[in-house]
Amino acid sequence: MDKALFETEIGVLTQAQATLAETGLDNAQYRHALAELTHHYQRLMREMHRLIRHSDRTEAELNAVNAKLQQLSAELEYKSRHDTLTGALNRGAVFELARTYLSNASMSLIMLDIDHFKRINDTFGHPTGDAVIQELIQRLRIVVNEQGDIGRVGGEEFTILLPKMPLEESGRLAEHIRQALARKPFDCLQTEQCVTASFGISWSPPGTDFEQAYSRADAALYQAKQQGRNRVVSEANRDQSTVAPA
Ligand code: GH3
Ligand code: MG
Ligand code: MG
Repeated sequence: MDKALFETEIGVLTQAQATLAETGLDNAQYRHALAELTHHYQRLMREMHRLIRHSDRTEAELNAVNAKLQQLSAELEYKSRHDTLTGALNRGAVFELARTYLSNASMSLIMLDIDHFKRINDTFGHPTGDAVIQELIQRLRIVVNEQGDIGRVGGEEFTILLPKMPLEESGRLAEHIRQALARKPFDCLQTEQCVTASFGISWSPPGTDFEQAYSRADAALYQAKQQGRNRVVSEANRDQSTVAPA
């Protein structure tokens, strides 16, 4: 205990103890000692109330700061893993998540790249190009739903990670996405223009190195571009890609 902090109280207490030990004091002296004690006791209680209020306020402030820190930390964690334009996973997060999936499960990987995107930028301007990317991701989200994780791995290149999905099923899903893009003009383009994309798909057993899975999907995507764009090529049927309807 810090004696200096309670110097007055110790003095009052010592005085009261001395009065108690004395015999033969008159009533007035006892009353005086009791009045002193009561006065200081009340002062101590007021001080204690003040300290409790102060400590409650400090605790509430600390709780608020703590909640804010947790919120900022969650925002930082989200921003470090997501693309700012679209909210899709960024390249780093795609690679990390894919490696986690492949460590104990098979995985299909769809890669897609917007067709002739440079023309869209050149015709409508870069901001409209950005809006096209955003609308494309919205359409992807509707079709993919909970089945996989959508990522943006390059300017106009995207991936969909599909853990445990067989190649045929991911092929059907990619075809579904292709149609969702190609069959309805993009709202952000004033000219009733459709935007198409080309798709490449790989399938990998558990334990596959993701770089390898990525490069096989990329090779399939390259085939899709070579064969005329707006189509899906799975690595298993590179020569029988889905021919795009007009
Ligand atoms: P291909 O069908 O062969 O894929 O042709 P492309 O024109 O889509 O491909 P290319 O690689 O020639 O051009 C891609 C363009 O995408 C060039 C680049 O300026 C543009 N781009 C990349 N990132 C962004 C972005 O974030 N916003 C916008 N608006 N454009 C972007
Ligand atoms: Mg590209
Ligand atoms: Mg492109």
